[in-house]
Amino acid sequence: MSCNSSTASFQRRLEGKVALITGGAGGIGEVTARLFVQHGAKVVMADIQDAHGPAIVQELGEDNISYVHCDVTSDSDVGNAVDLAVSKYGKLDIMFNNAGISSPDLHIVTSNDERFKRVLDVNIFGGYLGSKHAARVMIPAKKGCILFTTSVFSVIAGADAGHAYVTSKHALVGLAKNLGVELGQFGIRVNCISPHGVATPMLTRPFGDLEKEKVEELIAMGSNLKGAVLEAEDVAQAALYLASEESKYVSGLNLIIDGGYSTTNPSMSNILKNLSS
Ligand code: NAD
Repeated sequence: MSCNSSTASFQRRLEGKVALITGGAGGIGEVTARLFVQHGAKVVMADIQDAHGPAIVQELGEDNISYVHCDVTSDSDVGNAVDLAVSKYGKLDIMFNNAGISSPDLHIVTSNDERFKRVLDVNIFGGYLGSKHAARVMIPAKKGCILFTTSVFSVIAGADAGHAYVTSKHALVGLAKNLGVELGQFGIRVNCISPHGVATPMLTRPFGDLEKEKVEELIAMGSNLKGAVLEAEDVAQAALYLASEESKYVSGLNLIIDGGYSTTNPSMSNILKNLSS
């Protein structure tokens, strides 16, 4: 995966910063890790992809990026990942709680209890642990930035998203807002990024590893904004803005990247269009 940037006026917007990205060895996390490195940050990828993570390190160089095995549901794994960032690169400026899983169960009656709990565990508890350990080192430094990848399903519901997933993403926004209130006094900003569908493995896998372009086509059919495709890089660019000094007074925001999808409900206009055609 690559990150395009204009070289003519290229400014390294994260020079001197240290970032930890959970779920950083795949999908949105990987693209963000690459963009952050390009912008001068030292990055620790915390993930469970023990083959792919080290391969990214080999490609980009250990001075710039590290990989640590970290299941975000494990307090000690997350604690170790934060400690690694501090011991290797000296501090932690940016904690990106990005790791997440989808919920396969769409029907409440047949929902599997353990799978429901697992989604909440990874998506909510993982974000809580990441924030707790990040705050531990950011509070004494009196600065920091905590980010969450939430979802358009943090502000709307969808029968295709699954109850556990929608619950988890709504909950994360509450957690982020509350953290922002507590941590503001220490100069720590807390924000969410809420994308619409992005054709990462999270969405290609359930369709039997359908091609990225096919998944993008399917998403585009139901999208509000036409003529543009939401890509992982667009989410990474939002993270770059929220992690940089350009957003130094932004906290408590849920930045929705959905081309206006959550502002409308097209069902009635589709019915009317069908009636008049
Ligand atoms: P992905 O499945 O492509 O990547 C997720 C990454 O998280 C993988 O590298 C995976 O190994 C890692 N991961 C999974 N469980 C983990 C755990 N327990 N501990 C540590 N790492 C773990 O998915 P993605 O699309 O890149 O999703 C990233 C985030 O974006 C998730 O929080 C997801 O809910 C959110 N999101 C995705 C979309 C989308 O359409 N793809 C839309 C909105 C929000």
